[in-house]
Amino acid sequence: MTLKLLKMLDMTHEDELSCGEVHALLDEYVELKLRGEDVEALMPLVKYHLDICRDCFEEYEALLAALAFEESL
Ligand SMILES: [Zn+2]
Repeated sequence: MTLKLLKMLDMTHEDELSCGEVHALLDEYVELKLRGEDVEALMPLVKYHLDICRDCFEEYEALLAALAFEESL
């Protein structure tokens, strides 16, 4: 059971981004999002990482709020 789970995690790990890679892409991701682009289709790995990583998600929300505020000025 545990071994199977570990194998599954191992298999999915290959195309996953690290937190550092997500941080590097986050600006672009948020800009696309604010432009109304389909970010989930354009950058699915970033979206996937945000779903599973609380730290990056908080970073994303802060950036989104900051940029949305700028645009509203
Ligand atoms: Zn992360």
